[in-house]
Amino acid sequence: MSEFPNALDLVYSTLRELREQGVELRASADALERLANTRTVAPVSTPTAAPPAAAVAAPVAPTPKPASEPVKAAARVSETAPVSHYDGPRMAPLEGSKAERLAAMRGPVLACTKCPHLVKSRTQVVFGVGNPEAELMFVGEAPGEDEDRQGEPFVGKAGQLLTKIIETMGFARGDVYIANVLKCRPDMPPGMPGNRKPKVEEMQTCLPYLREQIDIIRPRLLVALGATAMEGLTGSTDSMSRLRGRWHDFHGTPLMATYHPAYLLRNQSLSEKRKVWEDMLMVLERLGKMISEKQRNYFLSK
Ligand code: SF4
Repeated sequence: MSEFPNALDLVYSTLRELREQGVELRASADALERLANTRTVAPVSTPTAAPPAAAVAAPVAPTPKPASEPVKAAARVSETAPVSHYDGPRMAPLEGSKAERLAAMRGPVLACTKCPHLVKSRTQVVFGVGNPEAELMFVGEAPGEDEDRQGEPFVGKAGQLLTKIIETMGFARGDVYIANVLKCRPDMPPGMPGNRKPKVEEMQTCLPYLREQIDIIRPRLLVALGATAMEGLTGSTDSMSRLRGRWHDFHGTPLMATYHPAYLLRNQSLSEKRKVWEDMLMVLERLGKMISEKQRNYFLSK
C-alpha cells in the first residue's frame, strides 16, 4: 500500500510526458478521469477494522461518453500540473485553493528565524509574488538590497529586465510566479554596498519553503535564473554556459536554466541576449504557446 502513490505518480507523469511529446493517448475518458481524481485524494492508511457498509462503494460501470470526450480528457492530462514529489515539512494545509495555501504559509515564513545572522540584517523576508495558478515560475537566488527594502523579488534593475523578458514572451508579470531560493537578503559586512552570493548551507536551509511553494503552485515549467539559483535547486555547480539551453528536472517539473538578468545588464552583447531569448523560446514552445515570426527573430544579428 505504501508504494501505491509512487506507482500512481509514475503512471500519471508518464501519461503527461507522452501527451507533451505528441503521443495520442487512447485510454478512455473515464480511465483518465479516475486517475486524475485519484491524484487529488490523500493516501489512505491500511484499515484495522472493516469499514462501515456505507463507505464501501459498489463498483460503478463506466458512463458512456460522447465520441469527443477522450480527446478532451487526454488534453486535460497534458494540461495538468506535475504531481507532488514534495515530502518535506509543510507550512500550509493540504486543503484549500492555491491562493489560500500560499497565504497560509506566508505568515510563518515571514516570521522565520532559522538563520539568525540573516534575521539580524534583513529588513523583511521576501516570500514571492505572482499568480498562484501560474503555469510558469521563475526562480532566482536571493533578494538584493531593493528586494529586501520592498519585500518583493526582482524589483531592482535586474527585476525590471526580467519583467521585460516576461512581457516579450507574451505574459504579464502577474501571470507568472517569481520567487527566490533564499528568502532573506544575504548579510553584508557593515558599510559594504552591494549584494553577496548566498551560501550553499543558507540555500539548503531555506529550500523547503520554495519546494512547498512549487508544490502548491505546481507550475508546468520552472526557469532558474543564474547558476547560483541552479545550485540552490539542484546542487549543480556547472557553469551557466553548460547548463542553459536544455531541460533539467526538478522533482518531476521540467526546469530550464538561463542567465540571471543581472548578467545581461553587465554584458549587453546581442549574442548573450539571444542566448537568454532562445532559452525562453524553448519555454514558450514547451508550454505550447504561439510564437510570432517577430518573436522568433529577436536579438538575431542583422
Ligand atoms: S533565509 Fe529562509 S530559512 Fe533563513 S531565516 Fe530567512 S526565511 Fe528563514
